[in-house]
Amino acid sequence: MAQLIDGKAIAARVRAEVKAEVDRLKVERGLVPGLAVVRVGEDPASKVYVTGKKKAAEEVGFNSWEHHPDASISQDELLALVRKLNDDPAVHGILVQLPLPKHIDAELIISAVKPEKDVDGFHPISAGNLSLGRPGLRPCTPFGVMRLLKEVGCNPSGQRAVIVGRSNIVGKPMALMLLQADATVTICHRKSDLQREVGMADILVVAVGVQELVKGDWIKPGAVVIDVGMNRKADGKLVGDVEFQAASQRASFITPVPGGVGPMTIAMLMRNTVIAAMGGV
Ligand code: NAP
Repeated sequence: MAQLIDGKAIAARVRAEVKAEVDRLKVERGLVPGLAVVRVGEDPASKVYVTGKKKAAEEVGFNSWEHHPDASISQDELLALVRKLNDDPAVHGILVQLPLPKHIDAELIISAVKPEKDVDGFHPISAGNLSLGRPGLRPCTPFGVMRLLKEVGCNPSGQRAVIVGRSNIVGKPMALMLLQADATVTICHRKSDLQREVGMADILVVAVGVQELVKGDWIKPGAVVIDVGMNRKADGKLVGDVEFQAASQRASFITPVPGGVGPMTIAMLMRNTVIAAMGGV
C-alpha cells in the first residue's frame, strides 16, 4: 500500500516558514510583503481560490488586497489596473486570477505584470528563465510538487519522470523543473501512448483534468504518484486524474485529491511573494 503524501500538512509547514521570514523582514527591514490579487467578474471557482489565497496571505502576515472589477471591465482598464499595481511599492506580488472574460486577452494581461512581481510565474520572462535554467519565480503548482517530492525523500536525479499534460501552467514547467533536477523526462498529451509511458515512470505527475484517466494498474510498482487533477463529480465530490484506490496498491507514495497538490499551490504563492519582496531569487 502506498504512503499518502499529506499536502495539507506540508503546505502548513511552508506557510509557517514563510511567516517566520515575514516576521524577520518586519524586524530587520521594516518590510511587510504585499500581495495584490485581481479577480475579474463572478467565476465561482475563482472566488473559492481567491478566498483561499487571501486567507493564507493574512495567516503569514502579508498585506493583501483584492481588486474585484466587474466582468464588463475593458482590456485597457484592466491593463491600467495592472500598471498601477506595478508602480505601487507596497505591492510585491501581483496575481491576476484566471480565467479572464473572453473579451480580454489573458496573455496580454499576464505579460503586463512586472516580471519581478510575477508571483504566479506565468510571465514569458519567468517561463524563459525556467527554460534556460536561470533563477526566477516559478509557477506555484509545479513548485509545490517539487517540495512534495523533497518531503518524501524522492530525489528525481537519474529517475524516469513522466508528466501527463502539457499546459503552460502545470505540465511544461513541471517537466522543466524535473529536468533541472536531473530526471529523465517524458511529457505526454492526447497523442501519446499513455499506458506505455505511464508504465515506465518512477515519478508520475498527472495534470489533465479528466477524472481517473490514468488507471491504477498502469502504474509501475514503487512509483511516486502526484495527481494534480481536480475534477468535481456530479455528487460534488472532488476526484483526481488517477484511479486512486487501484494506484495506491502499486505506488510507493501517492497524493490524495483533495489534500495533496491543491494546498501546496497556495503555499508556494506565499513563498513566491516573500521571494519577490526580498528582491528576487
Ligand atoms: P489544461 O490546460 O486543460 O491541459 C490539459 C492537458 O492534458 C493538455 O496538455 C491535454 O493534452 C492533456 N490531456 C487532456 N486529455 C487527455 C487525454 N485523454 N490523454 C492525454 N492527455 C490529455 O489543464 P491544466 O490547467 O494543466 O490543469 C490540469 C488539471 O489540473 C485540471 O484538473 C486542473 O483543475 C488541475 N489543476 C490543479 C491545480 C492545483 O492547485 N491542484 C492547479 C492547476 C491545475 P493536449 O495538449 O494534447 O490537448
